[in-house]
Amino acid sequence: MTAVLRVALPVPLPTLFDYLPPTAGEAKAGSRVRVPFGRGEMVGVVIDPAAEATVGAKRLKRATEVLDPYPLLDAELLATLAWAADYWAGAPGEAFANALPLALREPRPLPATGREVWALTVQGHSARDAKTRKGGSASLLEALYDGPRAADELAFALPAWRAAARRLVEAGLIEKLELEETSLPARPAPGPALSEEQAAAVAAIGEGFGGFQPYLLDGVTGSGKTEVYLALIERALADGKQTLLLVPEIGLAPQTVRRLRERLGVAVEVLHSNLAEGERARAWLRARNGTARVVLGTRSAVFTPLPNAGLIIVDEEHDASYKQQEGFRYHARDLALVRARALDVPVVLGSATPSLESLGNVEAGRYRRLVLRGRPGASQPTRVRIVDMRAQRLDHGLSPTLVHAVAETVGRGEQALVFRNRRGYAPVLLCHDCGWHADCPRCERPMTLHAGRRRLVCHHCDNTMPVPAACPVCGSASLSPQGQGTERLEEALNERFPDIPVVRIDRETTRRREAFGDILDGLREDKPAILVGTQMLAKGHDLPNLTLVAIVGVDEGLHSVDFRAGERLAQLVVQVAGRAGRASKPGSVLLQTHHPDHAMLHGLLRGGYPAVAATLLEERRLLELPPYAHQVLLRADALGRAEVDDFLAQAHAAIGDPGDLRIAGPMPAPMPLRAGRHRGQLLVEAGSRARLHGFLRPWQRALAGLPSARKVRWSLDVDPIDL
Ligand code: ADP
Ligand code: ZN
Ligand code: ZN
Repeated sequence: MTAVLRVALPVPLPTLFDYLPPTAGEAKAGSRVRVPFGRGEMVGVVIDPAAEATVGAKRLKRATEVLDPYPLLDAELLATLAWAADYWAGAPGEAFANALPLALREPRPLPATGREVWALTVQGHSARDAKTRKGGSASLLEALYDGPRAADELAFALPAWRAAARRLVEAGLIEKLELEETSLPARPAPGPALSEEQAAAVAAIGEGFGGFQPYLLDGVTGSGKTEVYLALIERALADGKQTLLLVPEIGLAPQTVRRLRERLGVAVEVLHSNLAEGERARAWLRARNGTARVVLGTRSAVFTPLPNAGLIIVDEEHDASYKQQEGFRYHARDLALVRARALDVPVVLGSATPSLESLGNVEAGRYRRLVLRGRPGASQPTRVRIVDMRAQRLDHGLSPTLVHAVAETVGRGEQALVFRNRRGYAPVLLCHDCGWHADCPRCERPMTLHAGRRRLVCHHCDNTMPVPAACPVCGSASLSPQGQGTERLEEALNERFPDIPVVRIDRETTRRREAFGDILDGLREDKPAILVGTQMLAKGHDLPNLTLVAIVGVDEGLHSVDFRAGERLAQLVVQVAGRAGRASKPGSVLLQTHHPDHAMLHGLLRGGYPAVAATLLEERRLLELPPYAHQVLLRADALGRAEVDDFLAQAHAAIGDPGDLRIAGPMPAPMPLRAGRHRGQLLVEAGSRARLHGFLRPWQRALAGLPSARKVRWSLDVDPIDL
């Protein structure tokens, strides 16, 4: 038998690949190797350095080279990744590729991990005083005025800073220092004295240090969860241990990073998708070699190596952005739990609106729940009212009650947020004479009218077209926008309140990465303003002068077929409502609806999120839905409907006798056509995870062998979050 290296390669195939060891260098488990593949080359990760070949030596190729002096992935990560690939039915190579930053998937030696730090020169200080610069240069000088800053942090706050740096170096205003990572930040700033509840939570979790235990930190918005995290991270630092803090995409504002750095007094490594690849790789390697002690990141940061782990925190654990929706479909919160168990450390899941999965785990005794009820910053609780829109005269979708409340708020010099989770001017453009409306030809769904851009835009496939001057069917010129998007609400509020700044916050107005932060910074002042925005505003931004939140258009969510819609809507409403009255001023919330008697809205009003969640969880139990059942969703799409139907029919037949499995479909996807491709699905449900996975593995192999599988794009989604 020939001893070979068994290697994971970044290809969507369910296999590992065998190679003869390279002629020089020793490959260990977790080492990167360069190998020939097809006509080219690839970088893979050695999974087993001494496997037995399953084919004859003649058919084996030799690995070209070992790339690293030490294995990049340690034993824990290797084991966790193998587990994850199996659990989420992913290709092992893709799981490993997800774990490595892009720059480390290329055949290059490891970059140096020292921090590149920039500082003002003496001339720089006076140039800033003299305010002689504009644009990016001015922002960079501004950023450095408070002290030296690391390149990765600058990249995070000021995307175009490199060009500005070149200009400023030429002018002799700034310089590059090579500092050791540990010498960078200053002494930690003290935080507020913890409330009794906060202190109790810190003590309870602190007791669990040094072993695996999941905690659910269930605290309303503004109850000080972040302060609890900070106190726990301080403890981990004092023990000399690393902390991994995961946040949703949208929570990773530069202000979060600043707050952590200032309070902890250590460098905080930031890992997220907008970071330049080289910097991402360097931060990852600093975690690998243990010098990074606090790692803050979004979904894929859950793969950061933590050789000296002390604590894992998942903030806003209910957030859907933790689930990867393409390729390797893992869930970062669930993976954080698996890692915490393997690393033998506590894991804290924080949320004001915990997922039903996590509440189910509390109920089953797997998680300990810690509750924060008070809001240290707020003097009075927020008041929530339902506004019945029926029989009210609406002005661009706004009821008189709502407009009146906004007027009162800005009259007091405070700020109001009108929340509408739809971009654009209007969701539908309708012909009044014949009923035609503008649909996307590739999705068969209405296109959204964007007035500013003068285009119709499909929000499902980004297809755009000019706004027609007349109806293409009957020639009538009376085309009228139906419904309201944020753009239209902005216009309506501007007309109503000409003297008050109306600020719209959605993907359009914040296209530039700095724009969002700039707008929010402006709103922190004690001045009246009206904000109109989408769910970008739902979380994580402290606006002390915001006292009214008016939620418009929740009704669509009340009638969705997705069994998670109720949970999602309750979470969204509570998160948005949490924006009101964070500081000393009391807040109020208006919910405008045509269904004032809807059970969920009433539940929210009477018992808040905990009551609604308890009801929803009970429903899930009765209906045997997750978390009381386990699902895998097979999706398929192709240019032709017949190919999709054939494949799904064969996939269905391949199940054979389903026994106690429950099967729904084959059926069209919720959007049967998207971007010109026909889509269908098949859902399989089991009473236990073991049952589901026992079925899944052989089924997956059978699917890969189906002739019809080659004519479609297909994927398996274990624990899907949207059906
Ligand atoms: P959460 O993360 O739960 O939304 P934060 O930790 O951001 O809440 O706290 C909300 C606000 O209350 C922040 O401005 C924070 O500084 C303040 N705060 C938190 N805990 C305390 C405390 N114990 N004493 C005074 N202020 C506090
Ligand atoms: Zn018409
Ligand atoms: Zn479309």
